[in-house]
Amino acid sequence: MTGAILTVPESDDVALFDEAHRLAEELAASAGDPPAVVAVAFDGLVDPDALAAATPDEVLRVVRADERPFALGAAGVRSRAAALAAVADEPRAVLLPDTADGADLAAATAQRLRSGCVTDCLLRVRDGELTAGRQAYGGRAYAELSFEGGPPVVTLNTEALGSPATPPTGSPSIREVEVSVADDDRLRHVETFDVPEADLAKARRIVAGGFGLGGPDGFEVVEELADAVGAAVGASRPPSDEGWVAYDRQIGVTGKEIDVELYVPCAISGDSYHMRSVNADHLIPINSDPEARIFNFADLGVVGDVYEYGPVLARAIREARAETAGEQSVGESEAVSDGGERVVEPGAADPAEEVPE
Ligand SMILES: Cc1cc2nc3c(=O)[nH]c(=O)nc-3n(C[C@H](O)[C@H](O)[C@H](O)COP(=O)(O)OP(=O)(O)OC[C@H]3O[C@@H](n4cnc5c(N)ncnc54)[C@H](O)[C@@H]3O)c2cc1C
Repeated sequence: MTGAILTVPESDDVALFDEAHRLAEELAASAGDPPAVVAVAFDGLVDPDALAAATPDEVLRVVRADERPFALGAAGVRSRAAALAAVADEPRAVLLPDTADGADLAAATAQRLRSGCVTDCLLRVRDGELTAGRQAYGGRAYAELSFEGGPPVVTLNTEALGSPATPPTGSPSIREVEVSVADDDRLRHVETFDVPEADLAKARRIVAGGFGLGGPDGFEVVEELADAVGAAVGASRPPSDEGWVAYDRQIGVTGKEIDVELYVPCAISGDSYHMRSVNADHLIPINSDPEARIFNFADLGVVGDVYEYGPVLARAIREARAETAGEQSVGESEAVSDGGERVVEPGAADPAEEVPE
């Protein structure tokens, strides 16, 4: 198995294997025999038979000597990284899916293999060597990284991968490998909780909350508005640092880059670390400070308290939608009936203040 491309899927998703075979083909074109594509199935997490159906050259079923199953998520990263490093026999590369767990496992594995780790990248073959390409500076540049020392350990976006010119055939062998690994002794307590499913990077509409909300309860207003608009919930960095929202909600250069048709930042100042990762066809902030930088980017804005305007807007949008759908409209406030071009004062007839571009 020396020199193999190790793939560590979270399921039987064939995309990683197709990409591994494509890379093997490219490597063979510049340096002889193609490396084998070896799939790793951690006992208790992935069914080795399902992996075999996705046609790697070999499946390694990795089991623990203490007969305990491997654990998914942060609680299981240390033991899986130790197991991966133990079964990796000078691999050519280690490929994982670009998920939160994949990135954690990649980093921990690279540390044990003394290798370079690049997440959310594409691999290329340059002069017989693997290099990793990925966006840099919020998509304004493209970086290509080469690896020194150990094998590249990378996470790949499984929706943007290639496939080999000659699809693999045959039935791979399944080999069992036993490893002695321990659980993470730093863990005292594991709690599982639901995080919002919507992936911000793929969302078309986002309503986000900032530090100006003053606390986690403020996100109830943001969620209500997001629900009315049919949007995902995002945040600036301070709410995620404070633990008011899950980290994966953070928008900005150290969070997610977004590309949306509608962005509604609520109580977000518009700092450049945030705005550099915001691409929006329509940006409509709610902010109590008319001088806030966020209004420099606005198509239309609401100068006011989000606790006041958020619920009123949510109600008005719901009513407008119900009207459009031919249903009976209820409620006492005026509906936004012209595609969001007009906002409604809470309990008053005057439109909310609009901020020019
Ligand atoms: C290396 C580095 C990386 C960073 N990465 C990121 C990143 O990825 N993403 C990111 O967002 N930040 C990032 N930051 C932080 C960034 O510099 C700002 O501090 C942050 O974006 C500010 O968040 P905010 O706008 O929510 O809070 P604030 O700047 O505190 O702004 C709060 C806003 O809320 C308004 N407000 C207050 N109360 C109300 C109310 N009741 N109704 C309406 N409006 C109200 C205020 O007028 C103000 O404009 C980074 C910083 C550094 C140094």
